[in-house]
Amino acid sequence: MLALTGCEVGGERTTVRIAGSRIVSVGERPEVQDQVLDLAGDRLLPGLINAHDHLPLNHLPRLEPARRYRNVREWIDELDAQRRVEGPLEAAVAVPLGERLLLGGVKNLLSGVTTVAHHDPLYPELCDPGYPVRVVTRYGWAHSLDIEGEAKVRESHRRTPAGWPWIIHAAEGVDEAARDEFRRLDRLGCLQSDTLLVHGVALGPQERHRLIAASAALIWCPSSNLHLFGVTADVVELVRTGRVALGTDSRLTGSSDLLDELRAAAGQVAMTPGALESLVTRDAARLLRLPDCGSVAPRARADLLVVPAGMPLQRVRRRDIRLVILDGVALYGDPDLACALGPSERWTEVRVDGRVKALEASLAERLRHLSAGEPGLELTAVAGRAA
Ligand SMILES: [Zn+2]
Repeated sequence: MLALTGCEVGGERTTVRIAGSRIVSVGERPEVQDQVLDLAGDRLLPGLINAHDHLPLNHLPRLEPARRYRNVREWIDELDAQRRVEGPLEAAVAVPLGERLLLGGVKNLLSGVTTVAHHDPLYPELCDPGYPVRVVTRYGWAHSLDIEGEAKVRESHRRTPAGWPWIIHAAEGVDEAARDEFRRLDRLGCLQSDTLLVHGVALGPQERHRLIAASAALIWCPSSNLHLFGVTADVVELVRTGRVALGTDSRLTGSSDLLDELRAAAGQVAMTPGALESLVTRDAARLLRLPDCGSVAPRARADLLVVPAGMPLQRVRRRDIRLVILDGVALYGDPDLACALGPSERWTEVRVDGRVKALEASLAERLRHLSAGEPGLELTAVAGRAA
């Protein structure tokens, strides 16, 4: 077993023991045969949960809006027109899907994310054991009422098995049409306790009250909303009642990663560091129906993130991340911790935003052969050298 000693969990120094892909105990002493890693006061968090991303769309440039839009349809129409005339955007879309999906996973891994709720079809690549993050597989989804129409949306909700989240973009805009999407979903019977609305910018007090009464919830993407509309959803009451998870959306409109999104969230609503962390850990896990994710607790998955001692999550940038563990396996981190956990052949020295890091060697090797790259990630050194 692996024993992480001297780590700070929820404000207390403790030891976390891991067997395979699960946490076995929190607060029990290491046993003689354990492999021990002393974290010397660093914070141990559950791996972060990004509640909304479009994984193949993260290598694309963030498009500057020509104006503030009133609803997402205006933006989609403009994007379609741009695609026909803008070479770089067309070229970026031509990157093979498998490569784009891998890059979307790497974007998330490097920011401490271990679970992503992907909003689009569940491509087989996302379920591959070598994919760098866990992708939620038990979910129902529809794009939006605007794209799919009422009959298809209702059918999607009806087909989603009980106990799975059902996720849809809704009220993404500031006009009456965006606001009316909420009422239409309610009339269709799609506003239930399994419903997660993405965006909700246009929701007024009445709709938010109804959302809470239905035990539905919101996936909040403030960066994307501010980029397109200049405003975001009013989430104060929803956060207070535990009805919000945070998502990046793709880089086409959203933040560069979930750590940046946390800063955007903190800039919109005054929250304690604990409340903010909950949006990407406990609350996200509960709303996405992932009972064994989002906490450092016995029997939880060993999806873990180590950040420097005393550093609140909203201050962490991806170069600060000390270690990311997925399903009990370390994939990325500082060379000292990485090499303490596995032989140097397991690691490739890379640079992330200028800082030397260790990336799991087979993942680094796959990235070397892609036609596109992850901004800020330099695959600098010879495979097998991480220190
Ligand atoms: Zn989206």
